[in-house]
Amino acid sequence: MISVEKAIALIEKNYDELGVETIHLENSLGFTIASDIISPINMPPFKQSAMDGYAINFNNSSSSYKITDEIQAGKDPSGYKILKGEAARIFTGAVIPEGATSVIQQEWCVEKNKILSFSKKLQDNLNIRPVGEQLKKGEKVLSKGHVITPATIGLLAGLGLEKIAVYKEPSIALIITGNELIKPGSALTNGKIYESNSTMLIAALHYYGYKKITTFYAKDNFKETVKTLNEAINGNDVILMSGGISVGDYDFVLDSSKELDVKEVFYKVKQKPGKPLFFGKKNKKAIFGLPGNPGASLTCFYIYVLRYLSLMTKKTIPIKTELVTLSKPYFKKGVRAEFLKAKIANGVAEISSHQNSSMLRSYSEANGLLYIKENTSEINKGDKLDAYLLL
Ligand code: AMP
Ligand code: MG
Repeated sequence: MISVEKAIALIEKNYDELGVETIHLENSLGFTIASDIISPINMPPFKQSAMDGYAINFNNSSSSYKITDEIQAGKDPSGYKILKGEAARIFTGAVIPEGATSVIQQEWCVEKNKILSFSKKLQDNLNIRPVGEQLKKGEKVLSKGHVITPATIGLLAGLGLEKIAVYKEPSIALIITGNELIKPGSALTNGKIYESNSTMLIAALHYYGYKKITTFYAKDNFKETVKTLNEAINGNDVILMSGGISVGDYDFVLDSSKELDVKEVFYKVKQKPGKPLFFGKKNKKAIFGLPGNPGASLTCFYIYVLRYLSLMTKKTIPIKTELVTLSKPYFKKGVRAEFLKAKIANGVAEISSHQNSSMLRSYSEANGLLYIKENTSEINKGDKLDAYLLL
């Protein structure tokens, strides 16, 4: 059995990247860009009015100007020129015509019989966005490694880009094991429970932007588990197995991985919950054996699986840690490290009741996991601990 720190270090040492693909910008939210992006155009591409108002050929001695044209956004005013003492009606986003040196906002203007006068003292060079004010053609827009946000997508679309090179999204297989499981929606019979890990893990994957997911179900027998795992490995980059990784007579995940020559990186971590966690590799594919207990399964997802997915897609790990203060003393019984569900607010952590790995009740109200190192036994009120901030 290895420590939590060792297990994390082994994940960090044993990940594989997937390479690069080009995708449509509209599908790129949350992906990591794979090469620097250089602006193909000036932004804005032409001298642009920043206001609704009047473009004037500024003349220090004039207090009124003759209006000679109107320029809407989208109109090409080539060939038209504003001469000394002249003005053109203009709107936000429109091209500044030749000869115009200042745009006077319409709130300062009085128009009468095509003659313009003003309620404020005029200045030259007002409200004109120069060519390339935001970005020059050939300038670097974003660096490789940037994770795409809605603003990034808007920026790149504004530069006319339709496609973008990103690090590939992994395809993920979930294999749900357990003869006792039935799907929500059907009636419960004696001995059965509702299967909840698939929906929970899919939701967790979606939350962090992973959408290529296929779910498999395997009964608790060796042959079926081997067959399902083999199929999942062949068609996917990351395989998450739920349940069947403990030492019971009907736990076949470990034997199946051996049968298929999955190289064990680690099995069993000195932690609570999630002791039986398995992590293995077959070529570049990663196989996680997550505990069946829902609370343990989710904790192992947050601490280990998400780390692996972030590394392989070049994202920063989305769960941050923070040093928090404990609101009440806590006595840790065993020697294993613990991840405790907690409510964290203003840097203070309140440990939730119902920490059992089979339970999600307190987990659903918690917003963090307190990490208690393996050699700690007693923690006092006011002590500082690391917490993973989940939401
Ligand atoms: P296992 O790891 O297969 O020994 O399962 C441990 C516990 O978690 C058992 O009580 C199972 O019934 C429960 N469990 C396993 N898989 C699931 C699942 N997909 N949804 C809900 N509970 C599960
Ligand atoms: Mg089971």
